[in-house]
Amino acid sequence: MGMKIKIWGARGSLPSPLSPMTVEQRIREVLERFAAQGGQRQILESFISSLPREQLGGFGGNTSCVEVSTSRQRLIIDAGSGIRHLGYELLSGPLGQGTGEIDLLFTHFHWDHLIGLPFFVPLFIPGNQIRAHAVQDELKEIFPTIFRKPFFPVPFDKIGSKVSTHSLEPRKPVLFGDLEVTPYQLDHPDPCWGFRIRHGGKTFSYCVDTEATRVSRKELGEDLPLYQDVDLMIFDSQYTLSEVVEKVDWGHAAAPIGLDLAKREGVKKLVFVHHDPAATDAKIADGARQTARYERAQSRQKPNETEPPHEVEWLFGYEGMEFHL
Ligand SMILES: [Zn+2]
Ligand SMILES: [Zn+2]
Repeated sequence: MGMKIKIWGARGSLPSPLSPMTVEQRIREVLERFAAQGGQRQILESFISSLPREQLGGFGGNTSCVEVSTSRQRLIIDAGSGIRHLGYELLSGPLGQGTGEIDLLFTHFHWDHLIGLPFFVPLFIPGNQIRAHAVQDELKEIFPTIFRKPFFPVPFDKIGSKVSTHSLEPRKPVLFGDLEVTPYQLDHPDPCWGFRIRHGGKTFSYCVDTEATRVSRKELGEDLPLYQDVDLMIFDSQYTLSEVVEKVDWGHAAAPIGLDLAKREGVKKLVFVHHDPAATDAKIADGARQTARYERAQSRQKPNETEPPHEVEWLFGYEGMEFHL
């Protein structure tokens, strides 16, 4: 089946599910559009599929969590609030019986990447083996710190499963079954490591959270391979370009920055996530339209280049999205 990548949380910083008023308003707008088209039942399905994402399901409110799996292996990157639903799904397999094992990779330990951990049910089933991996030494302190009163009622030594921590070497490939993982450093106020994951000749690159302050090949130096020979790249787009200028050192990028990088390095497909919790779905969709305008303007500015620019297929990611490489 090759390598499957699924986004279980696409929101940054904090889970930000819809308010009831927003949902009500959205449904009202949708029904108004439906009525305007005549309201026949037969056309409902085609009508619904014609609606833009911001008027139907939206981008999702759960924070960062991505599952990478093959027919033999499964990795989870980050334990944002999205990991809660993934945990429920895993209960139908060995992790629900207390005979399962799973590898969790952490980019860094900001709350939005940890907040789902206490709600990941396989952790509480005796017999399960949970292996946590990160480049940073702080990994050892994470579980005993979170699973401790007054933050959580169950102390670490009573959570049920057996949790072990393992350190990853910077820029050194390590095999998890048939998945080869190499950590590269991103640009974030606290050290954060992206992952380049290879399987069957295909490469997935996870670049969240990053401000992408280093952009040129020279600046990126030994971290450049994170962006090279990549089939699918997931990239931080918390802000718009103008917000990035206002929020220097906040640790997040904008879609056009990732797009430029991806075009230069020949990335095939690019997905933007870590959407600002303050952004409505309409604003995120507007960010996608701004990025399309940016792309058109850039291609008009370079008419004299002899080589045609590399085309990158890009989109704004949402919770539940899946890719197969
Ligand atoms: Zn984050
Ligand atoms: Zn962060």
